[in-house]
Amino acid sequence: MRLAWYNDNRLGVVRGERVHDVSNVLGTLDIAYPYPPGDPLIANLGQLRPQLESAADATDGTAVAEAVFRSPVANPSKVIGTPANYMKHVEEAEADPEIHTERFRGKVEQQGLFLKANSALVGPGDGIAVRFPDRRTDHELELAAVIGRTAADVNEADALDYVAGYAIALDMSVRGPEDRSLRKSCDSYAVLGPWLVTADEIADPDNLDFELTIGGETRQSSNTRHMILDTRRQIAWASRFYTLHPGDIIMTGTCEGVGPVAPGDVMHCSFETIGAMDVTVREHL
Ligand code: MN
Repeated sequence: MRLAWYNDNRLGVVRGERVHDVSNVLGTLDIAYPYPPGDPLIANLGQLRPQLESAADATDGTAVAEAVFRSPVANPSKVIGTPANYMKHVEEAEADPEIHTERFRGKVEQQGLFLKANSALVGPGDGIAVRFPDRRTDHELELAAVIGRTAADVNEADALDYVAGYAIALDMSVRGPEDRSLRKSCDSYAVLGPWLVTADEIADPDNLDFELTIGGETRQSSNTRHMILDTRRQIAWASRFYTLHPGDIIMTGTCEGVGPVAPGDVMHCSFETIGAMDVTVREHL
């Protein structure tokens, strides 16, 4: 199943080139206060699935091309970033003083994970607003794994059982000396989209081609099999530090080819099996 938030916060099921409004199913969610950690829709996705499918059957839907897609996860408890997880990106960072800082060296095992502020999260239809135009803001195209059920101290062998699905992510980054949690958390610097593809549709998250182009020029092109820590190992490792809640997002790291964006650019991002999304860059006013 392909699940999306679109237009004015409508919940949709995407089938082929149509998105079907299934927002009425949300009324069956019983949400108490204090608000539980994680995203209640993702937490209940398994049991809601028959209702979502039948609600989608009942509408003609609208064309995907006419929909404005928001983040397919509305309320994650956290957005986790995995740095330095492709050897060719590690090498380009080591070679370019503009994109590494002295305090962060080596591969992912040496650097550990980081967090991006939830307030940075947007969908492709929202676009990104570049701050600090005198500094470099780079695109980092990544596979996002979205957690489906509470995970603490999970084994690598079982780790994919905790995944609700996958989406395309952009870990937008201001380059410079500050902590990653600041530089990668500007409003709109965490793009997720265009929809969540449930895990049953992705046989192997560690073997997906992906590409980012701007103006027809290929900037990033790789396959997730080149990750240093595969998706399983990232989930297991993260779950030893903190409980992962339904809806938590892991941005699994970027490949070589990171580069600056400027207002007016459109990043065309595509991922095998998941789909494609265009993300427009504007100035922060
Ligand atoms: Mn990244």
